[in-house]
Amino acid sequence: MPPSPSRIFAEIATADRPAETTVVMRRAVVLGGSIAGLMAARVLSDHAEEVLIIERDPSEADGDPRPGVPQGSQVHALLPAGQVQLERWFPGIVDEALALGAPPPPRDEGAAKIFVNGVLGLPPAPSGSGPALITTRPFLEALVRRRTLAVDTIRMVYGRADGLVFTDGRVTGARYVPDGGTEPVAEPADLVVDAMGRSSRLSDWLADNGWPRPPMQRMPIKLNYATALYKQDEKVSDAWVVVYHTMAGKGRTARIGGINSVEGDRWIMLVAGYDEDRPSRDVADFTARCREHYPPMFGDIAEHGQMIGGVVTYHQADSRRRDFHRLDRMPAGLVAAGDAVASFNPVYGQGMTSATLHASCLSAYLRSDPKLDEPARGYFDQVAVVVDAAWRISTSADIELPHVDGPYPPGYKVTKWFGDLLFRASLTDPVLSARLNRVTTMLDHPATLSHPGTLLRALRLGLFRRRSATASTDSP
Ligand SMILES: Cc1cc2nc3c(=O)[nH]c(=O)nc-3n(C[C@H](O)[C@H](O)[C@H](O)COP(=O)(O)OP(=O)(O)OC[C@H]3O[C@@H](n4cnc5c(N)ncnc54)[C@H](O)[C@@H]3O)c2cc1C
Repeated sequence: MPPSPSRIFAEIATADRPAETTVVMRRAVVLGGSIAGLMAARVLSDHAEEVLIIERDPSEADGDPRPGVPQGSQVHALLPAGQVQLERWFPGIVDEALALGAPPPPRDEGAAKIFVNGVLGLPPAPSGSGPALITTRPFLEALVRRRTLAVDTIRMVYGRADGLVFTDGRVTGARYVPDGGTEPVAEPADLVVDAMGRSSRLSDWLADNGWPRPPMQRMPIKLNYATALYKQDEKVSDAWVVVYHTMAGKGRTARIGGINSVEGDRWIMLVAGYDEDRPSRDVADFTARCREHYPPMFGDIAEHGQMIGGVVTYHQADSRRRDFHRLDRMPAGLVAAGDAVASFNPVYGQGMTSATLHASCLSAYLRSDPKLDEPARGYFDQVAVVVDAAWRISTSADIELPHVDGPYPPGYKVTKWFGDLLFRASLTDPVLSARLNRVTTMLDHPATLSHPGTLLRALRLGLFRRRSATASTDSP
């Protein structure tokens, strides 16, 4: 019997480092030097004599937001599973981040506050992945870049990738126009990785060369983010990490907010809405939203904190996935990773963690003695397990948004019934809260929640709550 998705997921998400690795190719080329590309390059360095990363943005952007990652100024939270994978591929990286100024863990266990539908929920159970790494996105990316480029077989060049090289029906390299140049240069490769993010043009390149495009699914979420940085000040607030998530419902508008303490003694604060609910770059609008729609610490920071820079907005039209694993024809010598495969509603914080897990899929594939002159189906099958897990969590919540009308996932009604039951029970039950938390933070596959013990516990608690509600209505 083939292993279940949750078993495959557990193997991908392991913290264990491979005991031994073998070089199986001479040269790998990675297109895109952001989180997915850097992680892929690190893994490839165990299996290739040489790894070349081709990145569009020149290196001066180190540690600051850069044009190639326009979402980089927005709040970015790394989920515990992503932190496990970072430590797996870069041992000691969390300590290094702390030494470089990432905020140390708070003494108070309840310092992370999570509000759901306006109600303060249970504090998240410790994930076992060590102190939470809470930083801005450019800080984290710069750290990962430094560690990746410290591997002496990995090199980065700057320029715009503009096509693949095909020889005898397989990919044998990539072309790019060097930064400041006009003529494309061909770089030979035994394996090319597309890590060019959600706007990757790989599908066009495949189609232009007679290959089918990977089928694309989209969910039109129409998400609107606005983020600002503030100087931390304990006289203004003791906020450390605050997550605010209100689902659409009777008398409720779907809204998301967040406050993270980040490096440089700053808070990064987010307010977000959907569809027509669109925060602007106007500071007065940002402040008013913080006060009116969110718990008091948002308004306190917005009104009394010192803003650094201005309000930065970002609109994401859809969640999308490219199902490479469904292609009946694809060339050998090519894989894709990170947002180039799937990008989700960012409020669930799955993107960077998915990229680290894709790197672990690549490692598993390259350790499986693959035939590199055949399509990398073993890799894409594993990536599909990771994408399905993240997609299931994010789309099952987003399908409830009033402006979203599909696509409905298979078995939607049953999943929704169980999801609602479990979610309500998890608000007061620490055991169910911890199990659900492990899934939403991508430590476990969603299928682990269909364990009979979890179902029975949620049912019992649901029944108990209904009885208590009836008893209190009956009492004089
Ligand atoms: C508003 C917002 C908030 C988010 N918040 C979170 C969060 O809290 N937690 C989380 O985990 N994720 C979050 N994400 C998702 C996260 O940003 C992405 O999942 C992550 O950046 C994906 O990494 P990537 O390397 O696949 O792609 P990207 O980070 O998009 O990088 C693509 C890279 O490819 C390069 N590139 C593109 N085209 C070319 C070319 N032709 N030639 C050479 N190089 C090229 C670009 O310059 C860039 O460096 C958020 C996303 C958004 C939009």
